[in-house]
Amino acid sequence: MSEREYDVVIVGAGFAGMYLLHRVRKLGMRARVLEAGSDVGGTWYWNRYPGARCDVESMQYSYQFDDDLQQEWSWSERYSPQPEILKYAQHVSERYDLRRDIDFNTRVTSAAYDEDSARWTLTSEDGEKTVGHYFVMATGCLSAPNWPKIDGLDSFGGPTYHTALWPHEKVDFTGQRVGVIGTGSSAIQSIPHIAREAKHLTVFQRTANYAIPAHNAPLDPEREREIKAHYSEMRARAKTTPGGLDVVYNQDSVHDASSKEQFAAFEHNWQRGGLGFMSAFGDLMMEQSANDIAANFVRDKIRATVNDPATAETLCPKNIIGAKRLCVDIDYFQTYNRENVELIDVSEKPIEAITPSGIRAHGIEHQIDALVIATGFDAMTGALTRVDIRGRGTVPLAERWKDGPSSYLGLAMHDFPNLFTVTGPGSPSVFSNMLPTIEQHVDWIADCLGHAQKNGYKTIEADAEAERVWWAHCQDLGKIGLKTVTDSWYVGANVAGKARVFLPYFGGIPAYFKKCEEVVENGYEGFSFG
Ligand code: FAD
Ligand code: NAP
Repeated sequence: MSEREYDVVIVGAGFAGMYLLHRVRKLGMRARVLEAGSDVGGTWYWNRYPGARCDVESMQYSYQFDDDLQQEWSWSERYSPQPEILKYAQHVSERYDLRRDIDFNTRVTSAAYDEDSARWTLTSEDGEKTVGHYFVMATGCLSAPNWPKIDGLDSFGGPTYHTALWPHEKVDFTGQRVGVIGTGSSAIQSIPHIAREAKHLTVFQRTANYAIPAHNAPLDPEREREIKAHYSEMRARAKTTPGGLDVVYNQDSVHDASSKEQFAAFEHNWQRGGLGFMSAFGDLMMEQSANDIAANFVRDKIRATVNDPATAETLCPKNIIGAKRLCVDIDYFQTYNRENVELIDVSEKPIEAITPSGIRAHGIEHQIDALVIATGFDAMTGALTRVDIRGRGTVPLAERWKDGPSSYLGLAMHDFPNLFTVTGPGSPSVFSNMLPTIEQHVDWIADCLGHAQKNGYKTIEADAEAERVWWAHCQDLGKIGLKTVTDSWYVGANVAGKARVFLPYFGGIPAYFKKCEEVVENGYEGFSFG
């Protein structure tokens, strides 16, 4: 093997790439990770905006592959902030000595498969080539920043910050007039912080969003002790729930409860806080009338929090609750009671333009000194299609996916032998507590590589028919209930020109994990080894 030739080349050093490197080393394979950033952490390396933190409790949003690791690490808060999650990723990289096999500041621009040698050649921005027998895109499903198409964006004279590309040094908004475009999770987390610092904050809202309070607090040492004493039981319980969260899901219909019982169940979840809000009843995502009851509960909370009735109404979401990813907030709605915060509704008429000194909407130019773009990601497919990936044949992946992607289990694609994706389209990924789901994907991929190694196979490839059936199943699941009724990044609606296709798998963690196990038990059903 030449110096830049490896058994496995992994792109991305977030939680997925880091754990995969650890796993394939254990197989005795020579591996290299190529990472665009200058350190590990992925999401938690890039998204450094004020207020960034996890929305799954830290005791659950953490690795479980090594009990010593999960016992020795202590989180400071119920939902830990970005710097602490990044510190955790760095700790993991040191604990398992990962950095020595990672090339940082290396963005991969293309990857081509050579049929004769059954090898992939990856090319990075600086032209360097890296060859791998296996190639894994651990590039994340929320990692390709989405810039809005607004006239004059480049003409703005002050600093522009995208939440997903936030500077490493502190941005000080003191005394400034700031404009924020977007009201998704990133905006909802950052707006209260920016408002506390800025002289004036103007928020441009296209779609109002539901947010459930985090009720964040320092992690109670007694609770930490209790969880750590029974960690594996909690992890096992989480794997039996649709979202991979240790939350009790009530299966009953909301219509079978009296209004008093409905209120009590929602209030209980509201007071507990966080993403488990929708676990109150079993049919909230199945029919409009059930969903309306949950949505009205949250709207009433917004009206009770926001002093100005007109602003409160603008902040009340009109769409299905849960069809866009729920947000988890700390003082988001309360922020609109501040004198220095203004909300501009651009739902009916889009922002007209960004000018050198402001944002123009409804014919009025709002003067700003700094611009914050919180417009999210080209989710699930963006990080894959932004690389020119060519498998068997010459048609690049982006071209094949122009009318929507397709994948077997979110892990592999026909015509792309020896290529795996972690949390690709068709994986439960974003509908779950992602770290445990990433671990499951990585374990599955590493076991598959181990199987090929043991049996002397040179190639692994998803069968076209298995991929077709899985993808059709994912689309059928997307049609059940209310998930696809609303425009969202789940269906690619947030990116201009992107095909409208239901991107994740919506069958729940237990069904997905079981399917992956069955595939292995049936001799890697749906895969061909050569
Ligand atoms: P990432 O962390 O996205 O890492 C992918 C890496 O690949 C990046 O470092 C990137 O630089 C690199 N990369 C991409 N393309 C290339 C290329 N062409 N060449 C070289 N390198 C490349 N999930 C939860 O379950 N709970 C949460 O609380 C939660 N909070 C989140 C908060 C934010 C702000 C965001 C954006 C996402 C959040 N998520 C959360 C989802 C989160 O993305 C995952 O939980 C997880 O961190 C993803 O890990 P990953 O390794 O798969 O991908
Ligand atoms: P997002 O949810 O896609 O939100 C983007 C926002 O920008 C939306 O409000 C969108 O409006 C708005 N927008 C886009 N283009 C616009 C335009 N041209 N004009 C006006 N508004 C525009 O992105 P995100 O907030 O970065 O979150 C993405 C995902 O990352 C989340 O859903 C979550 O999974 C994860 N995340 C998690 C956390 C956490 O709490 N731990 C924090 C951040 C992110 P429309 O709704 O109308 O499109």
